[in-house]
Amino acid sequence: MATDLFSTARERLEDAARYLDIERDIIDQLRYPKETLAATLLVRMDDGSRKAFKSWRCRYDDTRGPTKGGIRFHPAVNVDEVMTLAFWMTFKCAVVNIPFGGAKGGVSVDVKTLSRAELERLSRVYVEAFSRFIGPERDIPAPDMYTNGIVMAWMADEYGTITGHPSPAIITGKPVALGGSLGRDDATGRGGFYILRHLGEDLGVSSDKSRIVLQGFGNASFHCARLLHDDGYRIIGLSDSTSAIYDPDGMNPYAVMEHKERTGHVAGAPTHGNARQLDNAELLETECDVLIPAAVENQITEANAARIKAPVILELANGPTTPAGDAILDKKGTVVVPDILANSGGVTVSYFEWVQNKAGYYWPVEEVHSRLKAILEPETRRVWEVARDKAVSVRTAAYVHALERIGHAVEARGTKAFFNQKN
Ligand code: NAD
Repeated sequence: MATDLFSTARERLEDAARYLDIERDIIDQLRYPKETLAATLLVRMDDGSRKAFKSWRCRYDDTRGPTKGGIRFHPAVNVDEVMTLAFWMTFKCAVVNIPFGGAKGGVSVDVKTLSRAELERLSRVYVEAFSRFIGPERDIPAPDMYTNGIVMAWMADEYGTITGHPSPAIITGKPVALGGSLGRDDATGRGGFYILRHLGEDLGVSSDKSRIVLQGFGNASFHCARLLHDDGYRIIGLSDSTSAIYDPDGMNPYAVMEHKERTGHVAGAPTHGNARQLDNAELLETECDVLIPAAVENQITEANAARIKAPVILELANGPTTPAGDAILDKKGTVVVPDILANSGGVTVSYFEWVQNKAGYYWPVEEVHSRLKAILEPETRRVWEVARDKAVSVRTAAYVHALERIGHAVEARGTKAFFNQKN
């Protein structure tokens, strides 16, 4: 069994290939990234010194189109993680048929130690270093952990300075005032909501009887929670990085968010009076109908998977379940709607942002919502059918569905079978 993150992620590729009649050269192409560039970023600090930061950008595969993926600013960022995230992006874009390949970037930095001006300089230096690697038709970055709309605005501006003209399509997740798309802010949570509702009958989940627990209460989690709440689902558990709250009678996510914005925590938020405070680990193991991990990686592992009671898990976070945890859930019959499908609403609306930037024509939010739904529902149905037809987990089915699509794109330029045909 592989131990590094990238090799572990790549096991999904071999696993999916077992269920497809696919040529070996296609798998070989996808075993390693197309290209990865490392750069040392030298940034002038406020005290006049110059500090060096390690950084990377990986374009994993561009067979289906320009590569797409976020830029992460975090002290733990390394090349193994960047390649893994780029691999996941490749499959995420393919699973929902977005005409992009996968990419990812990162800088090893603790942004909490930087002033705002230093953060701006770091963001601009990143674009300078990778200006020939990225491009509106080549590789389109976006926000990820500890990067946000203003970082994207600085990066787009820097790219425009280098090219000599504004290029909003270079990056997505921009503020709306600078060419960002309406509906991007809640797209990940909304996508998860559409997918869960679409599979409701298949999963035995419905708004009148299903209890939901969400781990995390940030962008993805809050919007998913509020849409589920508005639709009648009962939100019985929520958490942040410090604590978790549980109320079997349900809680109002808007009130919890208002409390969190005021106090910095979900703890102590208004509930129905039957609330209890739990620790984060207990929340994951709470009895509920749907568990939605929406915080960080590696939360469901071989250490706790056996104790997870939820029969359905919707992975809004990237990589919340380890392969060992996944195997335990699979054996128990837990249905896991995997990250590459469950959180694909985000990249789908990023794609819409790129389309609008290139067209110079901007859509009303209702159009963004209806187009998002029109993409996610049929692709979710297809993944569900693959899982049923091949008797595999929904995760394996999502990889099979995506790999088949990437495989068709590679085959369209010819493979061994084509070149060995006699006529
Ligand atoms: P965010 O920073 O807005 O929110 C993260 C939340 O998780 C915060 O409430 C934080 O307090 C909480 N948290 C952190 N560590 C925790 C822990 N150990 N236990 C419980 N809660 C913890 O981030 P986000 O944008 O909502 O992203 C959340 C996840 O969704 C990430 O895995 C991200 O990669 C994934 N994702 C997000 C998007 C998007 O568009 N925002 C798209 C695709 C995937």
